[in-house]
Amino acid sequence: MSENRVVQGRMVTAEKLAELVEGDSVMEVDSIEEADRKCPECGSNVLQVTYMPSVTELVTGWKCQECDWSEDDRD
Ligand SMILES: [Zn+2]
Repeated sequence: MSENRVVQGRMVTAEKLAELVEGDSVMEVDSIEEADRKCPECGSNVLQVTYMPSVTELVTGWKCQECDWSEDDRD
């Protein structure tokens, strides 16, 4: 996965995007796409990234392209 996106004015890799959501390094990124939602903070586009922080876990995360907002599907 080598798809780069612009997040908060910087070009980031899919892996870097997952790390921004996770707040830590991740093992592997599964997919990255435009999310079908807008940022609740600023109304900008949101990217959806599915990644594996560890071998046993698959997480879907969302990150705003314009502000610090992010979220994941953990409880
Ligand atoms: Zn935002």
